[in-house]
Amino acid sequence: MADETLDEEAGVPLDPEHEHVGAVWDRDSGLRAVIAIHSTALGPSLGGTRYRPYPSFAAAMSDVLRLSRAMSYKAALAGLALGGGKAVIIGDPAAKSEALLRAYAKFLDSFEGRYLTAEDVGTSQADMDYLGRFSEFVTGRSRSLGGSGDPSPITAFGVVRAMEAAADSVLGGNGLEGAHVAINGVGKVGHALALLCHERKAHLTIADVSDEALRGVLAEVPADVSDPEKIHQVACDVYAPCALGGALNDHTVPELSCRVVCGAANNQLSRPDVEPALAARGITYVPDYLANAGGIINIAYEPGGYDESTAREHVSRIYDTTRLLLERAFQSGEHLSVLADRTAEERIRKARASRSSR
Ligand code: NAD
Repeated sequence: MADETLDEEAGVPLDPEHEHVGAVWDRDSGLRAVIAIHSTALGPSLGGTRYRPYPSFAAAMSDVLRLSRAMSYKAALAGLALGGGKAVIIGDPAAKSEALLRAYAKFLDSFEGRYLTAEDVGTSQADMDYLGRFSEFVTGRSRSLGGSGDPSPITAFGVVRAMEAAADSVLGGNGLEGAHVAINGVGKVGHALALLCHERKAHLTIADVSDEALRGVLAEVPADVSDPEKIHQVACDVYAPCALGGALNDHTVPELSCRVVCGAANNQLSRPDVEPALAARGITYVPDYLANAGGIINIAYEPGGYDESTAREHVSRIYDTTRLLLERAFQSGEHLSVLADRTAEERIRKARASRSSR
């Protein structure tokens, strides 16, 4: 930890990269929240509001710092004029009240547009619709209210474009035609992804802990069903983690039997050094934040009136970015996530430099 200091009592890394971090404690409404702005070099910071019963303030702080940084990288790599930010509300989302959300809207306003929020784990589109009545700094509202609506279908579209790029580069066939794709988690994104893979004539294996989610896919497309504990072992071309984070870990990586990993789940690598372990097994890993950027790209097209077709065109270019990075990775021997991080960092650095020279 070269330049990272630690608040010893809280155990929170005091990351010098973040531009601004603010917390609110409001006894009357019960709101306890933190907003972290990692960077506004490329534009206002955007990131969802995560509502969770964190065990401690330190745990909430550590999550919001990590997630806001990741949002900067995701927006920069996607070529958006947006920075990275994130918010956490500490508490049980089942107990959220209108008074708490109104207090939160006030907190959002105090950042004067340097942070734009969206839905995340524990918050819903209905929450965004409600917050949007009190704050203008809310994205991802329902289409009927001028927002871009549920981002899951377009996130799935971005993932399938990344898969197609990886298939063209690594599998050497005709996109996903005839490829075997194994999807773990067929919720909002995984379900839409299954349909898109089927449209592209891929063979599917799916798994989920929810029978209802499985039935939902099987009602629309043919697929083999696997045990969620074992789907990573299925011999396939593309393995797509679309459930929880940490899907690629010391236990699963040695058991993978795929050529490519490309899915929607955030934080798929349990540790950064998992990617070299994948590469050593000849498996290409498409970084999660490259493949799943469709949702944030979609939101970037909200200001001035949401236009789905322009957003879709931009999301489709995830194919080009993935191919370009794969080509560079083959030439240089570097890992894709190292190249992706570097591309994002360069964009942020250039934007900072041009801003400070003005
Ligand atoms: P979701 O909750 O709709 O779907 C997740 C699915 O995973 C559910 O069907 C659930 O039953 C299943 N699941 C849970 N635990 C599982 C396990 N152990 N094994 C197998 N299946 C399991 O969520 P979603 O919106 O589809 O998001 C999926 C992932 O993609 C998440 O990691 C999310 O952070 C990420 N992501 C989503 C979006 C988006 O637009 N929704 C955007 C970017 C990233």
